[in-house]
Amino acid sequence: MARSYRSITPEVSRRIRLIMADVDGTLNTGGDDVSPRVRDVIKGLQDRGIMLGLVSGRTDPLLVKMAGMLNIGGPLIGENGAVARLSPDSGLVDLGYSRRPALEALEQLKARYPGRVREREDNSERLIDVVFWADGITSEELKQGLQDVQLLDSTYILHLMSKGIDKGKTLLRLLGQIDGGKIRADEVLVAGDSMTDLSLFKLFPISVLIPNPHIPAADRKILLKAAAYKSDHEAGEGFVEVAAHIINVRT
Ligand SMILES: [Mg+2]
Repeated sequence: MARSYRSITPEVSRRIRLIMADVDGTLNTGGDDVSPRVRDVIKGLQDRGIMLGLVSGRTDPLLVKMAGMLNIGGPLIGENGAVARLSPDSGLVDLGYSRRPALEALEQLKARYPGRVREREDNSERLIDVVFWADGITSEELKQGLQDVQLLDSTYILHLMSKGIDKGKTLLRLLGQIDGGKIRADEVLVAGDSMTDLSLFKLFPISVLIPNPHIPAADRKILLKAAAYKSDHEAGEGFVEVAAHIINVRT
């Protein structure tokens, strides 16, 4: 059960070598920018030798752009784990995932809900993940009859993706290649706000839930159970208070 971020001890704080942050609902509430306070605290972490990376449902090009803006050098994981690069300057890692099951599922849903299931405009920029809007249809309804795909609701957008792909597994796969494979899972802090971050919370012991008021109560319960720590504040400010605590107790 998630405890306050204040219970992150100096020892745990000093162990952290990499912070992987979700974007929407964690660093900001959407849009291309983050607040000056988020920007400052990211710089503070990097000044203390902690590497920063992003792990998001956003597309790879958007994450590369954001990494440039924030001046961070860690791994970038996009499309909820389906695409990744070891650093903003390196090429995409071949993870071997296919888009076909998600595209087929989208056609199935369009046929089932004519006019109500609509593709989002940035699908053409996505490599594996498929994003869409579903007017007035719940996730539970949408999930019925879908076979080889998972339906993810980030509260910002609905995603369809082949089963077995998630943020946590992809980050674990990358660890072996970062810094000569010397970063362990218990040296990584992961921060996220929604069910798309659950795999991170389960696979990485230093996990922080940033509360998101738009998460349904049942999901919130699952997230609180899986995460080790939680912030008091929501997106942006929640990340700032956790990062500031880590900086303060580290020294
Ligand atoms: Mg999020």
